[in-house]
Amino acid sequence: MTVLGRFAPTPSGRMHLGNVFAALVAWLSARSQGGGFVLRMEDLDTLRTSDVYAQAIREDLRWLGLTWDSETEPQSLRGPVYDRYFDALSARGLLYPCYCTRSLLHSPNAPHLSDGTYVYPGTCRDLTAAQRGSYRRAPAWRLRVPDRVFRFTDLAQGEYRQNLTTDCGDFVVRRADGVYVYQLAVTVDDGETGVTEVVRGADLLSSTPRQMYLRELFGFPQPRYGHVPMLLAPDGRRLSKRDRDLDLGALRRRMPAETLLGTLAYAAGMIDRREPVSARELIGEFTWDRLRREAVTLDPALLE
Ligand code: GLU
Repeated sequence: MTVLGRFAPTPSGRMHLGNVFAALVAWLSARSQGGGFVLRMEDLDTLRTSDVYAQAIREDLRWLGLTWDSETEPQSLRGPVYDRYFDALSARGLLYPCYCTRSLLHSPNAPHLSDGTYVYPGTCRDLTAAQRGSYRRAPAWRLRVPDRVFRFTDLAQGEYRQNLTTDCGDFVVRRADGVYVYQLAVTVDDGETGVTEVVRGADLLSSTPRQMYLRELFGFPQPRYGHVPMLLAPDGRRLSKRDRDLDLGALRRRMPAETLLGTLAYAAGMIDRREPVSARELIGEFTWDRLRREAVTLDPALLE
């Protein structure tokens, strides 16, 4: 099978260290197998995203040496495509309108798993036509999920399993304002593009069973998944978008790409010594086995 990897950033800001790490590993995994690599702008949320950031991300990737073979259509232009998949789910009776308000869903009485994850209790699952008719607002649309365990072996995190009914619940595929949610768009896009490897941050690990289910419904084969560890400061704090001095706008002024890549690759266990290295040079070093599973500690002082 020809390997096809991808990077699917949300252009809502400059690339951050965590995005660089995810992009680097996705690119190295694909390229080390002689595979292709595609770029896709996930700009579903048109209020938070902009072409200015999309262009900055492309330039940052070029600066890093992370080449892509093609860029697929941005999500903001694909509404009619998502409509078709939505309609197909609807025709199979798998969707229902949900009128729950945000405050109801996130009230302290709402069911949560021990880690704080919200599980939709099915409040609107079996409303009668009369009950539906009594609401004066547009609904969100939820997908009925099966009571079944979805499992896969993640390239970085190992075995992962989730029962969609007990660990997640029926989930929204289209919001009340008509915007499709990430889960649906990402599945359609990766599926139609023929992506065989989905590599991204570990914060998206728990989304994967939802995407596996949608893939099944749409008839797309399952890709391999790899969720790269989060980056932590030495005090255990997660390095986040709020650390503006660690976005590429700032980092590019302070050091060459090779210094940044070498620091990141060393912290992640990919190379034995912290030394400048190009993305291309890392291809020969890359194996999933070397990559740390647990969070990667990176002292931001090394990037000053
Ligand atoms: N667009 C998402 C983000 O920037 C990533 C989605 C994905 O890789 O599946 O966080």
